[in-house]
Amino acid sequence: MQILCEGNITEKLFTRYNQLLAQHGNHKWWPADTPFEVALGAILTQATSWRNVEKAMDNLKDAGAFTPEEIASISQSALERLIRPSRYFRMKARKVRAFVDHIADRPMHVMFTQDVPELREELLSIYGVGPETADTIILYAAGKPSFVVDSYTYRLFSRLGWVTGRYNYDKLRALFMDNLPHDVDLFNEYHALIVSHGARVCHKNTPNCQECRLQTSCAYYQSSG
Ligand code: SF4
Repeated sequence: MQILCEGNITEKLFTRYNQLLAQHGNHKWWPADTPFEVALGAILTQATSWRNVEKAMDNLKDAGAFTPEEIASISQSALERLIRPSRYFRMKARKVRAFVDHIADRPMHVMFTQDVPELREELLSIYGVGPETADTIILYAAGKPSFVVDSYTYRLFSRLGWVTGRYNYDKLRALFMDNLPHDVDLFNEYHALIVSHGARVCHKNTPNCQECRLQTSCAYYQSSG
């Protein structure tokens, strides 16, 4: 993946941020009440929609299996059954179990005393925690500045003409980490805005460019007009 954006990238990133904010307003993410709930959602949302995650979460709540201790006390087959709506439920049940096992020895509040690089390294060492999940936990559960990127981020910034080539998580994340102040509120809102824009406006197959406030600075729009 190549970064094509040149010049004052920081200023350009803030301009896009303000355009997205004007379009979608503030989000105040992540939709969860506890750090563990953030981590659980981050694992369950891998390769599925948030709607499916909510169904799985509701099942866990209804079954009284919503805390690490409660999840540790149920069988693997029961866990699989409860999170079935989130798809890939057998693999995800193993991932949730691995995370619960890890925090039984290393509680989240203990892990969260580390700086971002060390915390990220520890999270990535847990089965089932990839870069996007790790950064989500760091940003939204630990409240530390680690920018989260995803397929929405890639789609938007490739259409804007900022990146090209095969999606590379670390390179795309570095675009934000290297050019924005490491501010938790900014990272939190920026990622949420990108997700909203991808879900509501810059759709995968037919982007709704007429409704988009980034239109004048979008390479895709300019080339299709
Ligand atoms: S103008 Fe269209 S393609 Fe470009 S960011 Fe907006 S919705 Fe996406």
